[in-house]
Amino acid sequence: MKNVYLWWGICSLFFIGGCTQRQINLAVPGVSKELAVYRKASVSDLKYKLEFHLPAQQKEAVKGKVEISFHLSKPEQIILDFREDREKIKQITVNGQLSAYRFEKEHIIIPVSESVVGFNRMEIVFIAGDRSLNRNEDYMYTLLVPDRARTLFPCFDQPDLKARFTLSLRLPQEWQAVSNAPEKDAYEADKNRWVCFAETEPLSTYLFSFVAGRFERAFYTQEGRDISIYHRETDPQRVVQLPLIAGQVFGALNWMEEYTGIPYPFAKYDLIILPGFQFGGMEHTGATLYNDNRMFLTSHPTVNEELGRAELIAHETAHMWFGDYVTMKWFDDVWTKEVFANFFAAKMIKPLFPAVNHTLNDLKNFYAASYSEDRTAGSNAIKQDLGNLKDAGLVYGQIIYNKAPIVMQMLEKQLGEEAFRKGIQEYLDTYAYSNADWEGLMDILDRYTPVDLKKWSHIWVHEKGLPEISARKEKGWWWLVQRDTWNRGIQWAQPVSVMFVKGDSIKIKEMLLEKEKTRISLAAETDIVVPGGGGKGYGYFALDTASLSYGLKHWKDFQDPLHRMSILMALYENKRQGKLKSADFLTSILTSIQREENPLIYSALLGYLESCCADLCTDKESIQKAEEKCLTLIYSSLGKEYRLGAFRTLLRIFRSPSCSQKIYTIWRLQQLPEGLYLSERDYMNMTYELCIRLPEKSEEMLEIQQSRITNPDRRREFNYVARALSPCAEVRDSLFFSLLKAENRQIEPWTLAVISYLNHPLRQKEALKYIRPALEALEDIQRTGDIFFPKNWVAATLRGHRSPAAANSVRDFLEAHPSYPPLLRNKILQSADHLLRLE
Ligand SMILES: [Zn+2]
Repeated sequence: MKNVYLWWGICSLFFIGGCTQRQINLAVPGVSKELAVYRKASVSDLKYKLEFHLPAQQKEAVKGKVEISFHLSKPEQIILDFREDREKIKQITVNGQLSAYRFEKEHIIIPVSESVVGFNRMEIVFIAGDRSLNRNEDYMYTLLVPDRARTLFPCFDQPDLKARFTLSLRLPQEWQAVSNAPEKDAYEADKNRWVCFAETEPLSTYLFSFVAGRFERAFYTQEGRDISIYHRETDPQRVVQLPLIAGQVFGALNWMEEYTGIPYPFAKYDLIILPGFQFGGMEHTGATLYNDNRMFLTSHPTVNEELGRAELIAHETAHMWFGDYVTMKWFDDVWTKEVFANFFAAKMIKPLFPAVNHTLNDLKNFYAASYSEDRTAGSNAIKQDLGNLKDAGLVYGQIIYNKAPIVMQMLEKQLGEEAFRKGIQEYLDTYAYSNADWEGLMDILDRYTPVDLKKWSHIWVHEKGLPEISARKEKGWWWLVQRDTWNRGIQWAQPVSVMFVKGDSIKIKEMLLEKEKTRISLAAETDIVVPGGGGKGYGYFALDTASLSYGLKHWKDFQDPLHRMSILMALYENKRQGKLKSADFLTSILTSIQREENPLIYSALLGYLESCCADLCTDKESIQKAEEKCLTLIYSSLGKEYRLGAFRTLLRIFRSPSCSQKIYTIWRLQQLPEGLYLSERDYMNMTYELCIRLPEKSEEMLEIQQSRITNPDRRREFNYVARALSPCAEVRDSLFFSLLKAENRQIEPWTLAVISYLNHPLRQKEALKYIRPALEALEDIQRTGDIFFPKNWVAATLRGHRSPAAANSVRDFLEAHPSYPPLLRNKILQSADHLLRLE
């Protein structure tokens, strides 16, 4: 696809430095790196003064006006980004004169004769693009990351051209508005409300944002700091959580100020909680957006849910310093902001949850999530090449969110906590309100350590994949062996824990793995050696037959939760690699899950159980045993959280008519086993799952459940998703094909739920025909959707499939598209891993 754009040719000749002539290929859609470098070299002191007229009617156009002022260091064509039809540009004046601009391939090109060296001022009257306005009946919000500011208004849409924004909005009278800066003025005129915001600090375009509509606003104050939380929630049980949310935000702000030594660097901080928001959160400076389901928990949340919310709040708050205050130059370094957000979030939540084993939590979250992509044929390096910002969304994934923090923890260990902190403070001071890259950070940290950081960074940051680590007995000695599964001959240097078992004696030792083979001292007489046992080390720990059967039998016997979890994770990864049978792993889990006392491990076990059941979808006996175990757990004397976890797992795996009947009775009578609490969302999910098992009752169930939902946003979601539960295959087919049109999939989380139910494990055969068209649509999904949509779209399509026919469908697609965009191809390979490994 990229190659095609090359034909569109060279559009312009540019005179650089007065005498050197250089050709720049600018007539490509998107923002090429070349264009970004070209503009950065000459444009500075940038300001946008923006005005939008937001109509009450969703279908009416949003009119806009932007005044762009900047300094130009040499005479040249001014190239702005605007990803809309040319008809939407109504008028352009440059330095007081009507412009004779051209519009080509998403760019407004102002002739060199109209620009002046020094101060330039342009004014553009336009119709705003709707693509990133997320318009609903009575509210809207912008989401412009990574390169979507250019869909809303003409601009220089690249992160290293930071600008000060001044925004004015005309709104329907009863609407509220919130943006990056504080409100400066508000008044009513002509039955409309005008809200004018103060000028922002320097911001990258992707961080500019506003939200407008009908919202409730809650104020909170602590130690002279005010925050507002805007929301649309009506359920008192959820609204009551707002003070706790505000408390965590204050806590995170204080923590970041203390660690960095830099007071919160922007004028104000507000939160907006949105239904159907496509991410968990988005760190718009001073106006962070959050997904309502991640923020409002049930009345009896699990530890995992509480940890998840606290991590999310800490993550988005950390971004105010890492991402907003210091921003990456280009989106190939977007990981440098995500890594710090997650790395510091993990530190921040520790004091909030003193009862939680945080080393275990990191292992369970960062490592497991990172392996889910790093083990696949679609693995990518932490730092990826990015030629054009239109592909920037595709560099996001588990690797940057979860492998990068693991790597950062290693870096902190090498430098020592205090030196690391000083280095980070110097980094923030050096690049305040500006932009940096990974190399800039390395240069600073390099001064705080004798370690060769460049060499270390090359392996961990610039190369993809994970080492396969195994223990081998040779010539009377045990050796720890690492192998590069991509055959590049890479050797990773890291401390790895190893478990030694001889009879009843168990020892865990940490050793440094640097070379291909490392001799394990004191292990010559050991019967079983389990690499990674103990929880230290990043890699695929390939277990031999003896350690596999030892692990299956004894994982439950380890007192230390970290040891238990490390064995379970190794077993799971060996199952994924086809070295351990799902049936054997399932039996081991079912035998001992009721004894597990650690809530984090217990929830991991339920996840493994579900994964085994998905693999064993045709094995009725195994599924029935899993159902029975879940029912035993639900009705047991275990804690509420454990019983609830078992109930939610049962909802995803149940098959037998007797179990369906039991769940149906619970749903109909809303009579739960004593002491168990279900949320409205649990009931919604129960309805969806029951409709698939009991199609004859689906119409009645959907009607009843709909009448139980009181919040209008949630009812809208339910009605949207419920269409996927139709017992009629033709209805489902036409729903699926309707989603191939962008206008029918605007609310991404709801669309993904529909795709998941259409491709439900119990409907695999009928859904086989959806795979190919869903993959064919992927490039359009990327073009029209937000960052996580392409990966989530493929994952929702393929997750429920386990048949060789489904695997062939993916293979056929990949073969038919040999020059498919590599970043997008990776997303398919990551999501199809379980299919492509089928025998
Ligand atoms: Zn983030």
